[in-house]
Amino acid sequence: MDIKSKIDIFEGFPKEGISFKDINSLIRDPEAFKFVIDEFHKIAKALDVNLVCIPEARGYIFGTPLAYLLNVGLVPVRKPGKLPGEVVAEEYDLEYGTNTVEIQKSAIKPGDRVVIIDDLLATGGTMKAAIDLVEKLGGEVCGALFLIELTELKGRENLKDYFVSSLVQYP
Ligand code: 5GP
Repeated sequence: MDIKSKIDIFEGFPKEGISFKDINSLIRDPEAFKFVIDEFHKIAKALDVNLVCIPEARGYIFGTPLAYLLNVGLVPVRKPGKLPGEVVAEEYDLEYGTNTVEIQKSAIKPGDRVVIIDDLLATGGTMKAAIDLVEKLGGEVCGALFLIELTELKGRENLKDYFVSSLVQYP
């Protein structure tokens, strides 16, 4: 399937100069959605994981059906203040300013094998923060999966110590 033909592009969203890749057009097409989940499943089943980690919010869309197919648990990574109980936090840099993400301490045990999935790899900052959270709790990150990779932003360099896979690439 030509996945790119299912992804709408909005120039100038959310601000001037950004070419936004909109996955909503893909996920409302049942054949395209099933196709990408099946592709993720083919890749992830070789990684022998026991958890799928899903950064808020678009990681949820792809990670939830993937965890179901793999028959493994789901671990959300969320914005501050959303998760109850003890959490660990990681701050990372954005183009302007910083962002913080959190994970529940109880979510990961030492030795857990984790795949992290998100919709899009740009600079890799979001994925690297999720990786750091998993590792702080003793989990092993077995792979980072993306639907879309923006290759010119060189996010892979930020993730060079990890297995990285994307289903489609744009400059
Ligand atoms: P990074 O941290 O790699 O620089 O940025 C990746 C994050 O930004 C992802 O969580 C992704 O959801 C979001 N993102 C950045 N640009 C786009 C885009 O064009 N389309 C979509 N769907 N998400 C984007």
